[in-house]
Amino acid sequence: MADSVIELSEEVLQTLSRWKVPVDPFDIAENEGIELAPGTYGQKFDARIEYLPMVKRFVIYYRLPGPGRPEGRVRFSIGHELGHFYIPEHRERLLKGEMHNSQPDFRSNDPRELEADEFSASLLMPKDLFVAEVRRFRQRVCTLAEICKMANERFHTSITSTARRYCQCGIEACSIVVSEAGVVRWAVHSEDMRARNMKYIQFDAPVPGMSKTAALWDTLDQDGFADPVEGSVDSHVWFERPYYRKTLWEEAMALGKTGFALTYLTLEDPD
Ligand SMILES: [Zn+2]
Repeated sequence: MADSVIELSEEVLQTLSRWKVPVDPFDIAENEGIELAPGTYGQKFDARIEYLPMVKRFVIYYRLPGPGRPEGRVRFSIGHELGHFYIPEHRERLLKGEMHNSQPDFRSNDPRELEADEFSASLLMPKDLFVAEVRRFRQRVCTLAEICKMANERFHTSITSTARRYCQCGIEACSIVVSEAGVVRWAVHSEDMRARNMKYIQFDAPVPGMSKTAALWDTLDQDGFADPVEGSVDSHVWFERPYYRKTLWEEAMALGKTGFALTYLTLEDPD
């Protein structure tokens, strides 16, 4: 399914002659005649797409950017709703009157939500354009701060989705881990990382005690703020039997007020 979602998102960009970054999801929505209904809404609300049979139109309700809700995350949310609009099975449900408040940015366990997330990531960061853009930005590998900079300035996307995309595009050996309240929610590993047997981090288990991420969770205050942490860690801290004996470089940061933290692992001394 993932492949067909990626193909679909690329087809949308090609068909609408929007094959260049940054991709503007608002522009795509307008082009499709989708009504956009921004609002302040509650803290927990991200976005929702609905079909209005009376006027035969789709409408996307979404919470405006603001403190703790960066522009990139809002745009990723719109890309997610476009996923529900374009993926045929999702669209059928909408036409039947089904609706849900979305939980985008790879925070949900619902397969349909994740499918809409994959669509959004691929729509806003098509692989070929993403890789070319990273190469233009940096000849060497990126730090987490540089990935954030690209998310904010080049792609206008969420940090989580951009870091995940960076990892999936195989630009270098790295892993991305997202944790919530000190517990690993998910992780992805690049091909080069997998080749070194660093391909498994248990979900729903506490982050390793010796990791920098554990230190980040220890210093997080009630508002969800903590300074980012970084440093060298033994590869065994994160992985059971790595074929890589040297140290990893670990960077971790809190993701605004979401209650999630992002960890970026790379090889400190690639062999
Ligand atoms: Zn959704």
